[in-house]
Amino acid sequence: TSQKSIKEGKAEICLKTEKVFYNPVQEFNRDLSIAVLSIFTSDFKAEKIAKAEKKAKNRILGTKEDVEGGEGEAEIDISILEALSATGLRSIRYAKEVPNVTKIVANDLSEQAVETIKANVVHNQVENLIETSHDDACMVMYKHKHPSKRFAAIDLDPYGCPSVFLDSAVQSVQDGGLLLITATDMAVLAGNSPETCYCKYGAISMKTKCCHEVALRIMLQCIESHANRYSRYIVPLLSISADFYIRVFVKIYTGAIHCKKTTSKLSMAYQCTGCDNITLQPLGGFKPNPTERNPTQTKAYLPPAPPVGEFCANCNQRHHLGGPLWSAPIHDEIFVSRVLTHVEDNPDLFGTSKRIAGVLSMVREELQDVPLYYTMDKLFGRVHLETMPMLVMRSAILNAGYKVSYSHASRMSIKTAAPAQLVWDIIRTW
Ligand code: SAM
Repeated sequence: TSQKSIKEGKAEICLKTEKVFYNPVQEFNRDLSIAVLSIFTSDFKAEKIAKAEKKAKNRILGTKEDVEGGEGEAEIDISILEALSATGLRSIRYAKEVPNVTKIVANDLSEQAVETIKANVVHNQVENLIETSHDDACMVMYKHKHPSKRFAAIDLDPYGCPSVFLDSAVQSVQDGGLLLITATDMAVLAGNSPETCYCKYGAISMKTKCCHEVALRIMLQCIESHANRYSRYIVPLLSISADFYIRVFVKIYTGAIHCKKTTSKLSMAYQCTGCDNITLQPLGGFKPNPTERNPTQTKAYLPPAPPVGEFCANCNQRHHLGGPLWSAPIHDEIFVSRVLTHVEDNPDLFGTSKRIAGVLSMVREELQDVPLYYTMDKLFGRVHLETMPMLVMRSAILNAGYKVSYSHASRMSIKTAAPAQLVWDIIRTW
């Protein structure tokens, strides 16, 4: 059989058989993951050192209060699991390109894949860092759910839907650890099959122009719901829609009190069958505290908002129901800025650094407190008018006193908290 050799980042992999999965288009996904992990692991290490210092100080002072998870610097362990590894390319790149990593487990269910991983690990001389594993991804994770065995980060990159792996994943990542999750079943998430979406993700998807952001918000609520079963909750760092897939990066924390805030981070979505406008109905109420970095961490609760009616307030057509969607922020702005700076300062590290910088710059500008967006083509398609220039629309919204941004998920997007009535008024006067 012929052997193919592929270079990507600092890795070179050999493929003896077409049966082991390799997709060159996912280079962007792998580059972005390395950039995210580079910032994450340095933070994670610093946090562990701080805990270890506090623990040592408490020991000296004879304080009873113990600090969980603190380790001496020498034994700081930052382990990553790539649960569905195929060729091992991603794991090898993590070993060679992500700082501070002490161990990587590259797992696959397919025997041929594991053989390929083993050969590639030797070829790239990373035997010291990478351990191969031939098992079902869920089994590997369940074996690591004890707090002393959990991973600092778990990467899930399956064919299609990742939800069958979530129960085990949310249990086997450390407190403050990272989950990196890809979903490629965009047809399901983007509204072609709302019933299947409910079965797989526990939410009804919708056919709408902002379906890519809806997909991200369905994915996030799905992870949160799995985490909540174990008194854990998510804090999204970065949520990306690209090519034919979505990719989310979320931190997992433990805390039953925080889980009570989940309903205030979720909404049902009422989509008008006439004008496509989407009104969100929060499942619970909360009053954002503007002094907090993450406004969803607030303690001040409000009663839930009154239910959205059967008919659309703008055009009086019936509503469709979708969701629940994650309606809290989907990115951490400060984290995104740091990843962006890292990529801009080191463009040679990544084959796709220009694209990463472009996407992250857009992400950073996104209005965090405005879930979803309008699109120019859909708005003007509804009224059978020629589209006005994007700039004109944006200035009109700004002039009316509302903020406006793009979403990275669509070139034609308009993200704004301006009421739908205002947007239609702008269109009518065009
Ligand atoms: N992460 C890889 C990369 O970046 O190149 C690609 C992974 S590929 C999309 C999915 C892999 O998951 C396949 O190699 C398949 O054999 C493996 N797989 C499918 N079901 C699995 C399971 N239950 N446990 C472990 N591996 C599984």
